[in-house]
Amino acid sequence: MTNKIQKVKGMIDVLPEDQDIWTRIYQLVFELANFYGFSQIITPVIEKEELFLRSSGRGSDIVQKQMYSFTTKGGERVVLRPEFTPSLVRAYIESLQVKPKPVKLYTQGPLFRYENPQKGRYREFNQFDFEIFGDASPIADALLIQLFSQFLIDIKIKNFFIEINSIGCRSCREKYKTELKKYYRYKIKSLCPSCQKRYKINILRILDCKEEKCQRIRQFSPQIIDFLCDSCKEHFQKLIDVLDEIEVSYVINPYLVRGLDYYSGPVFEFKLGDPGEKDKDDLTLIAGGRFDYLISELGGKDTPAVGGAGGIERIVEIIKNNNIKISPNSTNKFLSKPKTCLIPIGELAKIKVFKILKVFYNKNIRVYQNISGSNLSAELARANKMKIKYALIIGQKEAMDEKIILRDMEKGTQKIINQKEILKEIKK
Ligand SMILES: [Zn+2]
Ligand SMILES: [Zn+2]
Repeated sequence: MTNKIQKVKGMIDVLPEDQDIWTRIYQLVFELANFYGFSQIITPVIEKEELFLRSSGRGSDIVQKQMYSFTTKGGERVVLRPEFTPSLVRAYIESLQVKPKPVKLYTQGPLFRYENPQKGRYREFNQFDFEIFGDASPIADALLIQLFSQFLIDIKIKNFFIEINSIGCRSCREKYKTELKKYYRYKIKSLCPSCQKRYKINILRILDCKEEKCQRIRQFSPQIIDFLCDSCKEHFQKLIDVLDEIEVSYVINPYLVRGLDYYSGPVFEFKLGDPGEKDKDDLTLIAGGRFDYLISELGGKDTPAVGGAGGIERIVEIIKNNNIKISPNSTNKFLSKPKTCLIPIGELAKIKVFKILKVFYNKNIRVYQNISGSNLSAELARANKMKIKYALIIGQKEAMDEKIILRDMEKGTQKIINQKEILKEIKK
């Protein structure tokens, strides 16, 4: 008898019985991307090793032990990509930096990490990923958090919560790290072996260690919130204000640091369960944060950016374990060209726009928005070019009065209506 060949360790087959779930996930990613104005990009599975050494960070778990790297016949060091952000940044620098900002991209596909396979965690795994390049405002952070919340709601995963934190900028984080070093200096021997290494190469990561003894030691450690500089504090506070306003609930986890070197400012994780439960690695469904330095560090122009990604296998696992019934919709939503656009001018207006977006989303109506824009005539010109029929303009005054300006782009006429009546007016 001949031996049968089995799949390589850590790899999985997605069998026919699971295809409905996978298709629905991809469909939903596509719908959310269309609705929120993200364009698809597809980058190669193989990248130069240097890309990840210089971005994910030499001290990160990915680079330390999880990279599928090899030398090609031509002698070049390459890797099977372990995450999306560095690849997208590379592609952005190579081809997209000249485009008007913001550049909003999404992608999905396989990634590879050489680690011990567990349920919902494999050596080849799939993620969907959304990134916004060229918007420094916390509004962009909030937009991503809203998009990812909507994803989990639509995929019918109800028991999730959002953790947020800020890990500061170059200057305030360094001060914090110095304090952390002082705090841990005489406690090193009580830490787990991984944390003893982290003390030297990536001290922030001690904070998100899941070992009980490390968590016990950290409870009196200094917290980054107390070290944030004024501009980091302001950015984080604004993000919190927007989340409160749009009624997205969150918990601040002062120990959330994310394992990668390139993050700066706000970071977030969507986790399964309740905030009080014991923290485990395999509860994270979607995660991301801001990375304002990465583009310039990889040779691009100084460009602020924020992004996040979700692990598909884990989400599929939860859907199956909880007997959640989902199947693809018969048609993709938000395929039609938008007839309406939303133009918020000013911070308050931008915050108000989130709620209006939700109304359109729930009614399956595509509406164009450029939440990063701040110039009315530029936005009107763009709307004209896109052959938009109605512009909904909201400025500071309208935002305060719960009103909105409805402009007929063909006739050039406009009137002020109540925000609550938007749908009624648009339908007319
Ligand atoms: Zn700072
Ligand atoms: Zn530890």
